[in-house]
Amino acid sequence: MNRSKQIVRVSIIGILANLVLVAFKSAVGLITGSIAVILDAVNNLSDALSSVITILGTKLANKAPDKKHPYGYGRIEHISSVTIAVIVLLAGVTSFRESLDKIFHPEAASYSAVSLVIIAAAVLVKFFLGRYVKAQGEKLSSESLVASGTDASFDAIISLSTLVAAGVSLLWGLSIEGYLGAVISVVILKAGLEILLESLGSIIGARVDSELSVKLKDKVTSYPEVKGAYDLILHRYGPEKTIGSVHIEVPDSMTAREIHRLTRRITEEVYMEFGIILTVGIYASNTEDETAKAIRESVEAMVQDYPEVLELHGFYVEEQEKRVSFDLIVDFGNDAEGIRNSILERVSSQYPDYRFDVILDSDFSD
Ligand SMILES: [Zn+2]
Repeated sequence: MNRSKQIVRVSIIGILANLVLVAFKSAVGLITGSIAVILDAVNNLSDALSSVITILGTKLANKAPDKKHPYGYGRIEHISSVTIAVIVLLAGVTSFRESLDKIFHPEAASYSAVSLVIIAAAVLVKFFLGRYVKAQGEKLSSESLVASGTDASFDAIISLSTLVAAGVSLLWGLSIEGYLGAVISVVILKAGLEILLESLGSIIGARVDSELSVKLKDKVTSYPEVKGAYDLILHRYGPEKTIGSVHIEVPDSMTAREIHRLTRRITEEVYMEFGIILTVGIYASNTEDETAKAIRESVEAMVQDYPEVLELHGFYVEEQEKRVSFDLIVDFGNDAEGIRNSILERVSSQYPDYRFDVILDSDFSD
């Protein structure tokens, strides 16, 4: 079963679990003749909303790419988790307001046996539902499912707090529901905000997971002809579509035909193994050139004086034209331009016969 089908199945289980709860509450409401319980049951229908949004988001995200959106619609999944985050935040605000109301306008709470049984059922259903949905969401790397599972878990915690408050009230005659609710509301608001920021971060474009970029670079450098892999850039269009590029360093003795064969193989095997469409760019590295080696070593030693420089790569000397080129990656938050110029000045004065091209690259990935 593919990923989106699994997400839809988990969401349907979420909807069903909520419907079972609604049915249970309605039945109890009808049997005891309590309109309040029936209204509460109807109100509970909205808890299935996050699952409905997850299904809609998954369906839309799976639309085939077209001329207007050639990268597909995968990022819609982030929009649906933003929506669910808003639902979680609203739940937090509502519960906080109700808690304050209970603190400032305390009413003698009357916990009937019926209502306690209903709350206990809700705790059980939501607890297991929340755990299940969240675990599946992590397995399927679905932000929406994780958000939806978090939503259900918080429903369980809120209901549990009502049970605890009822117990305390019955045993010691203390009313703590408002205070308990206020604390839990703050936790919910924090969680909602975290989900919101993470989903928004994915839409804005976040740094690639370090584990993935290191694995990918290891893969690319596993070919014997590849002397190094740099400037790995990955664009994600939803969890299932990633497009990117990388620069590889190869000996300048290789022919176009050999490079063609090598880069094709890398692209193909990376796609097979990671499902990532990777474009490969080329840096040449000097072979059998003692001057180039000497210049490189002294430039590398000089760059050691700049701790802000994270990487030096793409070093190449064209001896006939007396040109040297290399790339620098300067850590974010530094005056990259100034550092580049300072290094350029120093290498130019040390090797006045050569022209240096120093390119500034961005620290896109680990
Ligand atoms: Zn570069």
